[in-house]
Parts: sequence; C-alpha cells; structure tokens
Amino acid sequence: ISCNGFTLSDQRGLQAVGVGIFPNLCQANHDCWPNCTVIFNNGNHEAVRSMFHTQMRIELRALSKIAPGDELTVSYVDFLNVSEERRKQLKKQYYFDCACEHCKKQIKDDLMLAVKEGEGKPSAEMVKDVIQFSKDTLEKINKARMDGLYHEVVKLCRECLKKQEPVLGDTNIYHLRILSIASEVLSYLQMFEEAADYAKKMVDGYLKIYHPNNAQLGMAVMRAGVTHWHAGLIEAGHGLICKAYAILLVTHGPSHPITKDLEVMRVQTEMELRMFQQNEFMYYKMREAALKNQKIQVMPEPSNEPSPSLFHKKE
Ligand SMILES: [Zn+2]
Repeated sequence: ISCNGFTLSDQRGLQAVGVGIFPNLCQANHDCWPNCTVIFNNGNHEAVRSMFHTQMRIELRALSKIAPGDELTVSYVDFLNVSEERRKQLKKQYYFDCACEHCKKQIKDDLMLAVKEGEGKPSAEMVKDVIQFSKDTLEKINKARMDGLYHEVVKLCRECLKKQEPVLGDTNIYHLRILSIASEVLSYLQMFEEAADYAKKMVDGYLKIYHPNNAQLGMAVMRAGVTHWHAGLIEAGHGLICKAYAILLVTHGPSHPITKDLEVMRVQTEMELRMFQQNEFMYYKMREAALKNQKIQVMPEPSNEPSPSLFHKKE
C-alpha cells in the first residue's frame, strides 16, 4: 500500500477522501514527462437511473497519441522541480532512482533556474542571495498561512517579488512559487486586479515548463481565468478559461465535474465578452449593478496544505 496506493481526491480535487488500490494502474511506471495521467472521477450521481449516470471511477488517460508498443507512464510527482529534486523526492517516497529522459538530460532545469539575461546580468553571488531569500520567505509564508495571517503573506510575497525581479528569470521556479501563492491569497482577499497580474505571469511561466496537457497546468490556468474574470478583465479571463477547458478535456475528460464547471464558465464568459464588445459602457454598468446586489463569489480559503497530489505516499 505504501507505494501503490493512490490518494483519491474529491471531485474538485481539493481534499483527499481516501486511498484506493487499483491493481492494474499500479503497473503504470513513472516518468517525469509521462504519456498518461491518472484522474479520479466521482461520477455523476444526480443522474441515477438515467443514461448519464456514471460510476465513481479512476481513469488512466492518454495525454497525447501513443504508438502501439509504447510503455504507458504516469508521473508520481509534480514536474515543477529541478531533476535533482524530483529524483530525491521519488527516492524518498517510492524508493527508486528515476532514469527518465527528462532527468537523465536534465531537460528544462535551465528554465527552472533561469536568471535575468543581457545588460546587468546578476552575479552568481547575487543569484545565490536571492534564492536563499526566497527560500526563507517561503518558510515565513508557510508559518503566516498556518496562523491565518493572509495580509502578512501578501506583504512577504510583494517584498520577495521585488527582490527577485532584477535577478531571476521569468520561468525560475522560486519566482513562480511566490507568484502562485500571491495570486491565490490575493484572490481570497478579493484583491483581484493584483491577483490577476501575478496569475498571468505565473501561467506564462508554467506554459514554458509543463507539458501542454498537464493536469496541474490546466488547474492553474483555470484559477487564473476565474481571477481575471473577477477582476473584470473579461477578454483575458475568457481566453484563459477556454485554454483551461482545452487542457482539462484531455487530462480530466469531458464528463469530469471540473470540466463541466469550466464549460459553464466558458459559455458565461463568452456571453459577457460579447456584451462587452458590443457596448462597453453598458457592460460596466451591469457589472457594477450585479456587484452591488450580490457579493462576488468568494474564492475558497487558501489551504495550508501543499496542493494534494494523486500520488501521496500513505504511511
Ligand atoms: Zn525523472
């Protein structure tokens, strides 16, 4: 069970609800750049007795065309770590040395460690200092989040981003981690414009690092889309929601509850975008009225837990 248990997430993928053992899925080996993904689908229980009723199930889904005879692989860890870190994590949790192509050739490590190029290229010493500062900040952020001090988290993020700005490249993982926390917490505090700005930068970085059909990427693009929507940036919001929908059609499948939510959002934002393009003034008037009448849907409270992965090792 220790190595082969998949942690089942609830249908929103937010909370672990149990551990399942699926003998045939255990045969899918790990690759940091896999050709398949494992997704838990709660099924559609409201449609009992209709043809749309589906059972709770776990799916092994292809991320792209797979040639006959190719081995099916899934990733047990988030790709957003340099190869050395991923290998350490895999060794610790799953007791093997990853020899996948991306680890062997350290593919994308350069992007994840990127520093500013060109005029005023920072010295190795400066880079080291900023990375250490970022690590210390991430620790302080964790503590502040645990205590529910979200304004303190925002302060720490802003301070760190300012330090990183002249030194780290746009795809540096320490930069992306701070951007991710900043956008999530600012959304929770309903400071959507600043949140959207960080979310956009985060997604731009993720798109260069992740496989185009990666579930984590899809979820991040979805959150960024919702944040832009809340910020009144309907054009960018709709674009991101469409992008997320395209990714989740592959990673989660059309019948997954999150994909269905995205489809609803896609239709809604498309309608709003059309209204916006026809009459910008009326759009803002209506939006203003809507905001006065009802509070904007509040984003879920950011959790202290790192985002749950499907492959947490169970003790
Ligand atoms: Zn690997």
